[in-house]
Amino acid sequence: MTDLNFLSSLGCKVIFDHPSLSAFNSGGNIGAVIYPATADEVLKAMRLLEKEGAPYRILGNCTNVLIRDEGYDGAVICTRYLCGIEASGEGRLHIAAGESMPKLCKLSLEGSLSGIEGLCSIPGTVGGGVAMNCGAFGREFCDVIEYVDIAVDGRIERCATERLNFGYRTSDVGKLGAVVAAGIKLAHGNKHDIAKDIKGYKLARLRSQPQGVSLGSVFKQVDGVSAGYYIDKAGLKGKQIGGAVISQKHANFIMNAGGATSSDFLDLGNYARQEVDKQFGVKLKYEVDVV
Ligand SMILES: Cc1cc2nc3c(=O)[nH]c(=O)nc-3n(C[C@H](O)[C@H](O)[C@H](O)COP(=O)(O)OP(=O)(O)OC[C@H]3O[C@@H](n4cnc5c(N)ncnc54)[C@H](O)[C@@H]3O)c2cc1C
Repeated sequence: MTDLNFLSSLGCKVIFDHPSLSAFNSGGNIGAVIYPATADEVLKAMRLLEKEGAPYRILGNCTNVLIRDEGYDGAVICTRYLCGIEASGEGRLHIAAGESMPKLCKLSLEGSLSGIEGLCSIPGTVGGGVAMNCGAFGREFCDVIEYVDIAVDGRIERCATERLNFGYRTSDVGKLGAVVAAGIKLAHGNKHDIAKDIKGYKLARLRSQPQGVSLGSVFKQVDGVSAGYYIDKAGLKGKQIGGAVISQKHANFIMNAGGATSSDFLDLGNYARQEVDKQFGVKLKYEVDVV
């Protein structure tokens, strides 16, 4: 077990032997979770961890992360308490990494700002959304991002989007450091139309996606085709391993039907991946990050 006691010297909240943060409600304990409230605290935590040579990960709301059953023998810097949204005119917003996507969408609606209506139900933080380049209904977060403030090499660097190599559910953010804030530019729109679109997207989600405990889409699309299409065609809807089950409503969702372990999730995901490869020669790649 890595000795992380040196983290007590940080001025911010640190919880040792922290239960799993994963939204799948599974996984073992984490050596220590650090909850910085400011960008300076993120820098301080990163400097200390690097100086001590301790393993660490940056996480937000953990809605796209599975923690293994054996837990994570290192530290997590959780950015979900970095708060604040500032408007600077012309549809520009500077948002701290811990703000939630639904809150950002709600504030945008209140300000009659358009561009992220389709992202309103993504349950993650802005930091996680930037790192994953989250998206829905044909829009991606990077479509509106102007810059990202990243804690890297002991300072906060303002990175232009070109440097971050945004792609489908991916970016180079993870290779650089921790997102502490992002700047986005939205278009002025008609409040009524924006509200109507948000309502439509929420309804479309309710119709097509299951409710309950999950990590959202398990696998990435393959050449524009949903992984769920192949998993469904392979006859795997309803397939269950332990407490993990492939949703009857959307085959790219693995649900925690009660008491699922992270191994159940991975065994089922790997089984689906094998079957899809065997039946269609298609190789599915995880969208979910495994820690
Ligand atoms: C019900 C449900 C529906 C979902 N629907 C969608 C959807 O429609 N579209 C979509 O794209 N995703 C969807 N997701 C997945 C998930 O919500 C998104 O990927 C989201 O952007 C993750 O944000 P997070 O804060 O939870 O990040 P986490 O899950 O905590 O982390 C995700 C990744 O981002 C990195 N990361 C997190 N914070 C930071 C930071 N501050 N700096 C650097 N790296 C960071 C982590 O290291 C990790 O690799 C869904 C998930 C659920 C449970």
